[in-house]
Amino acid sequence: MSGKPQPDDRCRYVSADGRRCAMLRSKGHPSLCPQHRRQQLAAQADAAAVATELLGAIETFQTAAAVNHALGRLLVLVAGNRISSRRGALLAYICQLLLSSLPRVEHEAVRTKGHDAWDHTLRRALKSLHASGSSGGTQTILQQTTGDSQ
Ligand SMILES: [Zn+2]
Repeated sequence: MSGKPQPDDRCRYVSADGRRCAMLRSKGHPSLCPQHRRQQLAAQADAAAVATELLGAIETFQTAAAVNHALGRLLVLVAGNRISSRRGALLAYICQLLLSSLPRVEHEAVRTKGHDAWDHTLRRALKSLHASGSSGGTQTILQQTTGDSQ
């Protein structure tokens, strides 16, 4: 046994240009050095914050209003460089799929539970969306992004 670090003791972070980090792995982490562990934690925290801003209190995407609201927030996040264009495009595509599936969701719900139950579901979802303050959420995010206090 030598005193040299073994290959598995090295940080496994690989930079965008393909170079592997030369630092030793953190003792408390299975694959990263302390610096890259901190970077990973910061990225995860930011991703969680972005997800919270994007989704707010939206619990279901069964209404066009909820999907539209998420799209509005997505626009603001992409415009403010909080989400990459690539990721924004993926999320917008998922929203498009959600919107295009809404008529079938409604059809199934009406068929199995009736119009009144579907209307109740929609009213409850919209009430929840508005009660959460989500109706002004896009404006709030826009203010945060631009620094506009009005
Ligand atoms: Zn590293």
